This record gives sequence, structure tokens and C-alpha cells, in this order.
Amino acid sequence: MPNTQMSVKLISKPQNILKTVYTACRTCYSELLPQEIFENAQDEEKMLKLITRVISSGHYSTIEHVQLSFAISNVSRACTHQLVRHRHMSFSQKSQRYVKEKGDFDYIIPQEIASNSVLKEKFEKHMSDVANLYQDFVSAGIKAEDARAILPNATSSSLVASLNLRELIHLANLRLCTRAQFEIRMLIKKMCDEVIKEEPWLKAHLVPKCERLGYCDEDKSCGRMPQR
Ligand SMILES: Cc1cc2nc3c(=O)[nH]c(=O)nc-3n(C[C@H](O)[C@H](O)[C@H](O)COP(=O)(O)OP(=O)(O)OC[C@H]3O[C@@H](n4cnc5c(N)ncnc54)[C@H](O)[C@@H]3O)c2cc1C
Repeated sequence: MPNTQMSVKLISKPQNILKTVYTACRTCYSELLPQEIFENAQDEEKMLKLITRVISSGHYSTIEHVQLSFAISNVSRACTHQLVRHRHMSFSQKSQRYVKEKGDFDYIIPQEIASNSVLKEKFEKHMSDVANLYQDFVSAGIKAEDARAILPNATSSSLVASLNLRELIHLANLRLCTRAQFEIRMLIKKMCDEVIKEEPWLKAHLVPKCERLGYCDEDKSCGRMPQR
């Protein structure tokens, strides 16, 4: 069945993210112990000023202390394949070996195809044919791990993904760029929005790379920023 309800939930984050990052930043330049810096950290404006300076100078170890976990569902295998290319993340994904697809399996229709009724109908017909063939294989005793060979990139998946704040900022820089494919762009936007809801100060850092650089370094630019 077509499934359009991509869902992303921040399921785990540390307490005191701002104070933790500030303590990491300040420890590098202070005679005080990190415990003292943490206990005395009150002034949000002062903390943000130092953090912004340290991050923009490329001192990225300071943002590696914050670990975040997300529950993600109703994304395509094409999208999760792009996500798992990021090597500083941890993943636990629904298995196509251990979980058999039942009846009409769930799939994601790319936005451009979904907006064209003729192409959408052809897409859905193909998915229905694949579902029938998959069930034929399973009924003939083929294991799910082999029957899945015919499942398309569009097949819906779910996973738990964890990463630190440095990697989330990197992900935002790369995947919020309009050169990234629509679905992964939406996924990363939802992940960033979940974090910003809890930590509004991070909005300034969870941006496409052109906002960090002040220019576009892509060959094909969307025109949002001047090209390099
Ligand atoms: C718009 C777009 C189009 C793409 N098209 C293609 C494509 O056509 N084909 C394709 O194969 N991939 C493609 N990719 C994937 C891309 O090549 C990267 O594999 C993916 O974006 C992960 O990026 P990364 O290596 O920077 O990030 P991560 O794996 O998240 O790593 C983060 C950073 O850690 C450092 N790092 C990680 N591992 C190493 C290492 N082994 N050695 C040195 N430094 C390391 C790097 O500084 C890296 O930037 C595309 C990505 C984007 C955003």
C-alpha cells in the first residue's frame, strides 16, 4: 500500500545539551575544572557566544559529546540506503530477512510520480504485481531473505538511528541542500526540527552547507546563494 506518512521522533537526548557543549568548549581555555564550569554555567547568552565562536573555528570535538537517537518510519529503502552511507551513525533497521512482507507491502511513491495521476497508477500497478510475485515465492517455500530480492527501492522501512551532534550538523549541511533527493531532505529536515523543538539554539547550526559557507559549492546551484 502507498504510504506517505514519514514519521520521525527524537527518542533519546542528553539533559543539559547547551551546558554540556559549553563545558566542553570552555574546558579547553579555562583554568577551572570542567565540573566547576558546568556547575557555574548560567548565562545562556555567554554560553551561546562561546559555542558559536568555537564551532565556527572548526573545533568540532566539542559537539561530539551529545548523542541523539531517532525512531524513523515509513521511509523508502532508497532513502535508508542514502542514510546508511553516513559512517558516524548507528543503525538498527527492520530486517527483510526476519520480517516477511504481508499482502500488499507498504511502499513510498516519489513525490514527482505521485503528482502525475497516470504515472502514479502505473507505479501502483507495478507494486501490486511485485507483491503478488513475492507472495508466490513465499508460498512456494522461498525464504523471505531470498524472496526480498524482487522488492523495489520504494519498499517502506523503519529504523532507529543514532548519531552525535557533530554528525547531525554534517548531515544537515549535506542533505538539506536542494541537490539532495527530496525524500532524504524531508527526513533530515524532520530530524533537525525534532531537535530544534527541544533546543532552539541549534537552529543556527542545522542548516544547508551554503548557509555555513556563505556561498554555493555545487556545480548545479539552486540560486539561493552566489556560486563559489
Ligand atoms: C547530493 C548528494 C549526491 C550524492 N551522490 C552520490 C553518488 O552518486 N554515488 C555515491 O556513491 N554516493 C553519493 N553520495 C554520497 C556521498 O558520496 C557520501 O558517501 C555521503 O554523503 C556521506 O558523506 P560523508 O562521507 O561526508 O559523511 P560521513 O560518512 O557521515 O562522514 C562524515 C565526515 O567524516 C569524515 N570521514 C568519514 N569517513 C572517513 C574516511 N574513511 N576517511 C576520511 N574521512 C572520513 C569525512 O570528513 C566526512 O565528511 C551523494 C551525496 C549527496 C549529499
